[in-house]
Amino acid sequence: DTSQFIQRDETCWEIPPHGRMRVPAVIYADAHLLQQMDQKVYEQLSNVAMLPGIVEAAYAMPDAHWGYGFPIGGVAAFDPELGGVVSAGGVGFDISCGVRTLHTGLNTDDLQAHKQALADALYRMIPAGVGSRGRIHLNHQTMQGMLKGGAQWALAQGYGEPQDLERIEEHGKMAGAEPNYVSARAKERQKDEMGTLGSGNHYLEVQRVAEIFDQDAAQVFGLQTDAVVISIHCGSRGLGHQIGTEFLKQMAVSAPQHGIALPDRELACAPLDSSLGNQYLGAMRAGINCALANRQIITHLTRQAVAGIFPDAHLSLLYDVSHNTCKLEQHEIGGKKKGLFIHRKGATRAFGPGHPDLPPVFQAVGQPVLIGGSMGTSSYILCGCKDSEKRAFGSACHGAGRAMSRRQASKQWRGKTLIETLAAQGIIIRSQSMRGVAEEAPPAYKDVDSVVDIAELAGLARKVARLEPMICIKG
Ligand code: 5GP
Ligand code: MN
Ligand code: MN
Repeated sequence: DTSQFIQRDETCWEIPPHGRMRVPAVIYADAHLLQQMDQKVYEQLSNVAMLPGIVEAAYAMPDAHWGYGFPIGGVAAFDPELGGVVSAGGVGFDISCGVRTLHTGLNTDDLQAHKQALADALYRMIPAGVGSRGRIHLNHQTMQGMLKGGAQWALAQGYGEPQDLERIEEHGKMAGAEPNYVSARAKERQKDEMGTLGSGNHYLEVQRVAEIFDQDAAQVFGLQTDAVVISIHCGSRGLGHQIGTEFLKQMAVSAPQHGIALPDRELACAPLDSSLGNQYLGAMRAGINCALANRQIITHLTRQAVAGIFPDAHLSLLYDVSHNTCKLEQHEIGGKKKGLFIHRKGATRAFGPGHPDLPPVFQAVGQPVLIGGSMGTSSYILCGCKDSEKRAFGSACHGAGRAMSRRQASKQWRGKTLIETLAAQGIIIRSQSMRGVAEEAPPAYKDVDSVVDIAELAGLARKVARLEPMICIKG
């Protein structure tokens, strides 16, 4: 039922505040995507709009779908001066799950004769699947170092190249991480999981640049048609999940003490100025560092795998973006710059040209926004734009977004058949789990082309390049 919406413009739909809502709920979509999101997303977004200290609106990106408490594809900003909160469910369980894309310097022709060999080498080198373990084992001291230092720590351990760092949000190290607020259980779960992809929708994909939309931005990003790139999608593994689980429970239990009446238990949160809120922020930032270190180590493993086949190839990082975070950022609100805590859950940052947090290389055009599609469809590279800062606190969609649940998908498709169908299209899939592959069937996701078109029309980000999958290592 979309009758509750007021259509503000071609891509902007608003549920005006009513009941306990403090601000409107706003969805960027066209009529079809809006319908696909269903009642559950509208309800979840309206609930988010009830949380203390929320400013402007609760936003949903065009790829949004139902999630735990907050929708995935949700963006919400909280003002610490207005009693704002931080919510573990608003960040999500896979803290700082994200994507990075690497240039390979190779083109499609170079790859053709070596495709199977490269798929095998990547699959051997990068552990994937539920509970996968890596070759790195952390002790108490190295765990603390990793949680404090993120990709900077990984680099110091010999994983990666110094020039990688400027192409990672926060320069590879999230400030304010407090490893001591991360439980022993969370650390225990992580000690053998560094450098692993994890399961489900996490992937390492070799992709071909199939189309360029914006020559100037493509040049700055170093993208040309037929170039081969590699994208890595993974997060903070068991550690992030454990942090999320524990704090969610604590936030739910202590909400009444904090004077918060939760519209939904899944929206458990704590005031930004409470000790629980601070502990969560410290632990969550350590979780961000875990994800950044993880993607950095996987990058190193990817370089090793590629070097075994293409000894002269040099893999350089285009950019690394996070999906599930809460970050303190400066945004203009009512004509004044304010420090706000921006929750992005299944949404990426999309800062435009001139943003002070971007490295010099991206100052002229804005940051790369890396969008996954599915293992059988296009993915995209977009570019942040100035408008996005007014539309949704400098945020954009992070993928196509699910169109149906994992359960539904696994009933409808078989992994083996999907792999054969994709092979016939020249796409090589490697995975431990046939059920996992079925859950990730390309039609289980929304149409990424229209999601991205709407994101562009809505002024969230601009299209730069379209990618096509060649090899996908699925978690
Ligand atoms: P999430 O961060 O919510 O786990 O996933 C982000 C997005 O990645 C999904 O919305 C989906 O569009 C995309 N995605 C999932 N699996 C794959 C894959 O195997 N390859 C690519 N390119 N994208 C994927
Ligand atoms: Mn994830
Ligand atoms: Mn993700």
